[in-house]
Amino acid sequence: MRTPIIAGNWKMFKTVQEAAAFVEAVKPELIKLSAAERVVCPPYVAIPAVQAALAGTDIAVGAQDVHWEEQGAFTSQIAPGMLAGLVKYVIVGHSETREYQGVSDVMVNKKAKAALKHGLRPIIAVGESLAINEAGQTQAFVGNQIRAAFEGIPASDLVNIVVAYEPIWAIGTGKNASSAQANEIIGAIRSIVAELYGTVHADAMRIQYGGSVKPENMAEYMSQPHIDGALVGGASLKPDSFIALVRGAIQAKGLG
Ligand code: PGA
Repeated sequence: MRTPIIAGNWKMFKTVQEAAAFVEAVKPELIKLSAAERVVCPPYVAIPAVQAALAGTDIAVGAQDVHWEEQGAFTSQIAPGMLAGLVKYVIVGHSETREYQGVSDVMVNKKAKAALKHGLRPIIAVGESLAINEAGQTQAFVGNQIRAAFEGIPASDLVNIVVAYEPIWAIGTGKNASSAQANEIIGAIRSIVAELYGTVHADAMRIQYGGSVKPENMAEYMSQPHIDGALVGGASLKPDSFIALVRGAIQAKGLG
């Protein structure tokens, strides 16, 4: 049984104070919902405050991105060693970083490897545009993203990796993929991981869906066999909504 994992991707929302207030608000309820792994990914500046507020709980903190170099003249970037000890997870390859910061498949691979080297767990995000989806090329496109992201990563690292399938056309648009569609693509991703590493590893890998997930549709996604959780933007920003997402996932998987 794969433990469900619900990650809130706060993007460029919440000041340090707002982030700290959010975690104080959700903490009492989230502590009880330990059947799922719960992760919050605040903006970098809020990470220390969020991490301090969650110390001693099993609620994890994630970063929204990371650079692959150890250090250097990379204005605005954050190195993996700077995040070690502060976060457990780091999102790499989110479509917004691919689109607005020119993050390529090769860079996603470097980021994932650098994270792993520093004991951080990458959440590798992949997903196709509307044009690719409408052309019926989703499986081929996402398959290539997965092969590129895993290039040179040894099987022994797989337990520390989560994949998030997020169709770009479904992010922040309210136009979500149907749960059957999402399950089909996530199943195809699992098959590629099986091809690369064998079925034992593929069956153990957690793969999330992301794109307009909200409390009202969470159970529907989570009742699909290949979907192990969600990477959630908008609906993760309000305490009640985030708690409802986690609760919905646990119930849909029959874990409580
Ligand atoms: P959304 O964002 O839930 O607001 O669609 C998901 C994501 O970008 O991770």
